[in-house]
Amino acid sequence: MSLELSEVTIKNVLTRTTGFLKTVTSHSLQPYRGCPLGNSLSGVGCYVQHNGHVLKGRRWGSFLEVRTNAAESYAENYEREKRWAQRNTANQRFSIFMSSATEPFLPQEARYQVTQRILEAMLAQPPDELVVQTHTHRVTRALPTLSELNSRSQLRVHVSIETDRDGMPDLPPHASSVDQRFDACQQLRAAGIRTIVTVSPLLPIEDPLKFFSRIAEVADAVVIDHFVEGDGSSDGHRTAKTRLPSSIQMIDAAALHLDYRDRIVSIAKSHIAEVGVNIDGFAGRLLT
Ligand code: SF4
Repeated sequence: MSLELSEVTIKNVLTRTTGFLKTVTSHSLQPYRGCPLGNSLSGVGCYVQHNGHVLKGRRWGSFLEVRTNAAESYAENYEREKRWAQRNTANQRFSIFMSSATEPFLPQEARYQVTQRILEAMLAQPPDELVVQTHTHRVTRALPTLSELNSRSQLRVHVSIETDRDGMPDLPPHASSVDQRFDACQQLRAAGIRTIVTVSPLLPIEDPLKFFSRIAEVADAVVIDHFVEGDGSSDGHRTAKTRLPSSIQMIDAAALHLDYRDRIVSIAKSHIAEVGVNIDGFAGRLLT
């Protein structure tokens, strides 16, 4: 599948959050627009593919806009956006979610270093809080910078591991294997960084007991998010239009329903002290 790649500049890389994300952080930050991982397993159920504003008629996974001035834009807009967050959010904190609509550690990051340069800009001008959301083990390439940032900002890294299975029937493979992502969590946590596994969207788990005991070894908390209530529609009808449900059904039809999530949450709670569900979990509002 060919990738339409372009280099663009952006006026303000810091977007004031709206909707669900508003309860998570004051701002979101996308180093890129589009995501080549849209052609991997995570792209099949990816919630961003339903966002017409991002797609502009393009197929999800077919384009990537590299925001070449993202770090400079962060530095230029930092003071104004920080002041805005302090005046307009309930907790008066300037907090950033990176990223909600792309992957910060894409394979193309090795060449363009957009995310790396943003993290370096944050060392000089740190947000009060930074949530890094990734689907790939490549996050470890930024480990030295993340470690430094960890002492200047309240940092947590979310690593998505949506199942213990190495693949799903009739769907493309994971962009980053389950083992690679577990290894990345281990390295992040060993560096003293708060590490959260996001099981999102929850897919059928082959051995839940083993899966959550493995997560307990490498993460501080786990967040479980089902596409029903999780994909931006109340009943999961956006995801119902994708190939994900039929693949889930081939393994375990029960996993299509919220009862399955609740069952999995109970198992997670027996292994891990901090468990979050759906948007509350992403926001750090965990069950105790
Ligand atoms: S890595 Fe994230 S943004 Fe990219 S396709 Fe997967 S879920 Fe979507």
